[in-house]
Amino acid sequence: MVSNANKLSLKVMLNNDKTKVIFAESDSHLVDILLSFMTLPLGRIARLFNNPIFGIGSLSTVYHSLQNLDTSHFVTEAAKRTLLDSKSSFEHKYATLKLDISDSPPAAHFFCSRCCSERFSDVSAFSNEWYCSRCDGKLNREVVEKSSCDGVFIKPGASFIISDDLLILPNDTEFFEAVSIFDIKETDKGEQIEVHFGLTEIVKLLKASLTSPTPLSDVILNKTTKLNHRAEESRKLEGDKPNLFTLKVMMQKSTGKLLCAQAKEEFVEFLCDLLFIPLGRVGHLLGGKTCFEAISNLYRSTTDLIGEKYFKTEYIKKKLMKLNVVHGCVSRSNILGLTEESLPYFYSRYLSWDNYPMGKGCHLQRPRTYLVNDDLSVEPYCFSSIYYSLHVQGIQISDVEEVELKIGLKECLGILEASLTSTSALSDALLANKNPKAELCI
Ligand SMILES: [Zn+2]
Repeated sequence: MVSNANKLSLKVMLNNDKTKVIFAESDSHLVDILLSFMTLPLGRIARLFNNPIFGIGSLSTVYHSLQNLDTSHFVTEAAKRTLLDSKSSFEHKYATLKLDISDSPPAAHFFCSRCCSERFSDVSAFSNEWYCSRCDGKLNREVVEKSSCDGVFIKPGASFIISDDLLILPNDTEFFEAVSIFDIKETDKGEQIEVHFGLTEIVKLLKASLTSPTPLSDVILNKTTKLNHRAEESRKLEGDKPNLFTLKVMMQKSTGKLLCAQAKEEFVEFLCDLLFIPLGRVGHLLGGKTCFEAISNLYRSTTDLIGEKYFKTEYIKKKLMKLNVVHGCVSRSNILGLTEESLPYFYSRYLSWDNYPMGKGCHLQRPRTYLVNDDLSVEPYCFSSIYYSLHVQGIQISDVEEVELKIGLKECLGILEASLTSTSALSDALLANKNPKAELCI
């Protein structure tokens, strides 16, 4: 049994009816963990909640179907492994959190064991997969990065107040400013209680931050509140790329329902890319309008509410504000314009995609054709499986038509957003006259 010494302690103010958290007080350890939520790649979130009933939108089905896709579809076995075990650019820091929410070893880098040099000319994220350009030896010597043990983002010692929807303020914030930011109307005759969070509660809090407008209340009072996904507002794009590729979709004429899409590997590469995006980068990509209010609030806390003096360094605050994909995992197509983390300064040359035997920055073998269903599940394209699927659904071939859709940046961002909130992401993102909004699938 875990003692309270290994748990995080919070003082929580409840409302009069004990139905809602008004605010909570905590030290830097909990704030560190909350901020680490933003650094988790979407693939990690999908893996944490890899459950057909408790999945996240269509993200879980993308993850699950890629997991089931035979290794021969990927450029290497390591490419599949990396995809399904997507790392964070803060991976090596998680062990210094008071409660480590990661469920995998930190990202490692490997260099040539023959070329003993202080500066590594070739570096790989995979052991024994790539070759040294100087001596043809395998890159298999692990580089271990040292990290301190006193937190990740926030200087130890400071105290914070946290709203139910995860806005974070330093505890010395001016009273009326805090009241205004937290939108506290009355001094309800509430009750202050002490709560201890262990790993179980932190994982619940992560889930609730994606699914509930009141994550702290949900975890502390053991409630379930569903987030009402806001209808997509028109998104202004700077430098839109209107016609990146085309997607052939099969529609049922009588219902206007999107049945599935016949996709080339470029579209599935894009779906693979989604798994590497840090949660906190989603809002940035969607122009500040993330579908998760609590995650948006964590982002706002980082940018506007927690002063620079509370962060361990100015650099770490900047890194949180624009989170990078872990080094070596931005694909060649990179439709969403993701940026990747640099390797530490002592590498003389960055890990180069040129070292990859199957080409630059690809996850999948080419050429391939895939069937992508409305829930973004991916399977190899196969005539007989479509024929059988239509038969099972009782759909006549005369009732089916093929439509060619132009996919640009706007559509890709729509699919990113819908993948997090809906189990019919393709329809939601691509059809002009959408079906009634699919409910947030939790
Ligand atoms: Zn070498």
